[in-house]
Amino acid sequence: MVLQANENDGSNPVLMNWHRIQAEMAQAARDSGREPDAVRLVCVSKTFEAAQVQPLIVAGQRIFGENRVQEAAGKWPLLRAGIPDIELHLIGPLQSNKAREAVELFDVIETVDRPKIAKALSEAMAQTSKSPRLYVQVNTGSEPQKAGVLPGDAAALLDYCQRDCGLKIAGLMCIPPADQQASPHFAMLAQLAKRFGIHELSMGMSADFALAIQLGATHVRVGSAIFGHR
Ligand SMILES: *Cc1c(COP(=O)(O)O)cnc(C)c1O
Repeated sequence: MVLQANENDGSNPVLMNWHRIQAEMAQAARDSGREPDAVRLVCVSKTFEAAQVQPLIVAGQRIFGENRVQEAAGKWPLLRAGIPDIELHLIGPLQSNKAREAVELFDVIETVDRPKIAKALSEAMAQTSKSPRLYVQVNTGSEPQKAGVLPGDAAALLDYCQRDCGLKIAGLMCIPPADQQASPHFAMLAQLAKRFGIHELSMGMSADFALAIQLGATHVRVGSAIFGHR
C-alpha cells in the first residue's frame, strides 16, 4: 500500500485524497492494534466517469465499488481491461432479473438480502461458471425503507444460502441509519459475523471509516472523501 503522497500526484486532488485516506486507514488500524493491511479500501466510484477513476487505477488502487449494475456495465469492462487484479464490488441493491449480469461483472456482491436473490445468484453462477464472493447485507437499524435482511432473520437467510443454494457467504455488510451513531451498528454487524464464523466485514464510509476499523471492518467503502461530492 502506498502511504506517502507521490510528487507526481500533487496536481490531482483525487489522488491526494486517496493517499490521505489510506494514511488515515493505516493509523486507525494501528490505533486499534490491527495490522494496517488487514483493512481494504473499496473506492466507491459510482456517478464518476471513467476518466476520473483511471488515475487511481494507474496509481495502484484495485478495489472499486459501484451501486448500479447498469452503470458498472457501461464503465468497467473497458476500465479494467488488461488489469486482471481489479476487484469490483456491487454495493447497491440487486434485482433478481439482473443476477446473471451482476455475476458476470462483479467479483464481490455485497448485497445479498433475501432468498429470491440468493436463488437467482446460485442459478446465475451455475450457468456462467463465475463465482463472485458474496456478502449478506444486514439492515442493522431495521429501517423499513432500507435494503438488507433484518438482524433477526440473518441466521435463516444464511442457512438458506448455504444449505438450499450451496452458496458460501464470505462477508457481512451494513449501512447504518443516517441519523444515528454508527458504532452500535458496526458492533452489531461484527458480533453477527463472529457468531456465524464469517470473516469479511464491509462497514464504514467517508464519514466513519476510522470508527468502523476500530470495530473490526475488513473493508471500508469510501466515495466522496476521495472523489468529492456527487
Ligand atoms: C455511495 C455509497 C458509499 C460511499 O459513501 P461516501 O459517503 O461517499 O463515502 C458506501 N456504501 C454504499 C452502499 C454506497 O451506496
